[in-house]
Amino acid sequence: AVDSVGWQFDNSYARLPESFYARIHPVPVRTPRVAILNHTLAESLGLNLRTLSQAEAAALFSGNVLPDAAQPIAQAYAGHQFGSFTMLGDGRAILLGEHITPDGNRFDIQLKGSGRTPFSRRGDGRAALAPMLREYIISEAMHALGIPTTRSLAVVTTGEPVVREALLPGAILTRVAASHIRVGTFEYVARSTDVEGIRILADYAIRHHYPDLLETDNPYLALLHNVIERQASLVAQWLLVGFIHGVMNTDNMAISGETIDYGPCAFMDTYDPNTVFSSIDHQGRYGYHNQSRAAQWNLARFAETLLPLLHPTQEKALTLAEEAIHAFPGIFQNYWLSGMRKKLGLFTEEMEDIQLIETLLTLLHKHQADYTNSLRALALEVLPDENVFLDDAFVTWHTHWQARLSHQPESMQSSLNLMQKNNPAILPRNHRVEAALTAASEQGDYAPMHRLLAAVATPYTDTPEYLDYRTPPEPTERVYQTFCGT
Ligand code: AMP
Ligand code: MG
Ligand code: MG
Repeated sequence: AVDSVGWQFDNSYARLPESFYARIHPVPVRTPRVAILNHTLAESLGLNLRTLSQAEAAALFSGNVLPDAAQPIAQAYAGHQFGSFTMLGDGRAILLGEHITPDGNRFDIQLKGSGRTPFSRRGDGRAALAPMLREYIISEAMHALGIPTTRSLAVVTTGEPVVREALLPGAILTRVAASHIRVGTFEYVARSTDVEGIRILADYAIRHHYPDLLETDNPYLALLHNVIERQASLVAQWLLVGFIHGVMNTDNMAISGETIDYGPCAFMDTYDPNTVFSSIDHQGRYGYHNQSRAAQWNLARFAETLLPLLHPTQEKALTLAEEAIHAFPGIFQNYWLSGMRKKLGLFTEEMEDIQLIETLLTLLHKHQADYTNSLRALALEVLPDENVFLDDAFVTWHTHWQARLSHQPESMQSSLNLMQKNNPAILPRNHRVEAALTAASEQGDYAPMHRLLAAVATPYTDTPEYLDYRTPPEPTERVYQTFCGT
């Protein structure tokens, strides 16, 4: 029955050299039950989960029963975690295979929390329910915001507790991704094989994610430039919506340019560029405004792995890599600036725009204003009685902004439309996410999670019934720290 849903597997990664992964099956679980299924995503993949009974769906998404054409593997990778190099790999995930959609797109189908693998080190290979539901909510919200991301097809509970700070219900998430090739995958191959190994991985990444580059003179340099481009764009998009990834280790940076690995990530409420949520990020290395620097650092590690492919002479290869990495801040800044222009309704470019933007952000910071709501208020032309909007400096700023808007040929209405499409009304705010997770994982009540998911599915609409999701947390509801809570 698990084969009746429409799988079309073509497992190209399992055809790569054996050293890139370990062939291993998910460890069966005791009593799997469906917590949530993503029928919308399934349909977009050409899968029909409605043919499955609840028990069949639970068997499938727990890994207890595998589709016939699955070739389960745990991928090997390494990574720099908070700057330190470590050999890692899928310690609790199994790639079932790559599903080809009816329109010819390829997606990894991965079970996360599926039991021990040769890469588990001291871990139990399992995951707790709340963090898997958290990944489900935030990844689906990111997708609705239009930000490249892995997605979530299902969460099943295992019927087995996991030992964390307390005994928690165990669960398995089915993650859908363009691929799971990370900067850390390149680091692993670079350290454990020869130049040919790196060439095989690079060729594979180009073929799967950047096929146009096959035609270029130096596809490996082009790969570096293109990964830099996609990461600059991605991190800029994070900043524009106030997203903080939280664990930007090189093993959590995808070559495809998708957001991957939702751990202690969060959206900031009040604007503060120094915001750090992650309980393990003591130095603020991955805090809100350090994210572009962290991305550049990771990309430098990526570039190092490509050195032998970039040019036959070492010195020239180094120069090419350095040039590419040094270009990152400018590329990032351009993406961010053009995104901020849209948020402020600007169609044209003027030198002073950066100052206009910075002045507004400084005011939001000074008044600890809510980032999302303040920008949405500008987009809706309703300025509530909030401190920031009452500040004389804001009134002056507003006059400048209106003057700037009148310099461009587009109408005010076009500007407002642009702003409404670029300033979300609804995000999965931490306090609402936490409330939904508590209800689901502690009381078995999934209603708050379903309502939250429905609300974040249309982030750029002021749906009257979801207005409550726009309310910032009360001081007592504020989430100051997020935990890897695995
Ligand atoms: P992360 O911080 O989520 O990127 O995970 C870093 C590494 O730890 C990855 O190699 C994971 O597979 C591994 N890992 C995380 N949790 C567990 C676990 N419970 N059991 C085994 N490995 C784990
Ligand atoms: Mg990870
Ligand atoms: Mg993780």
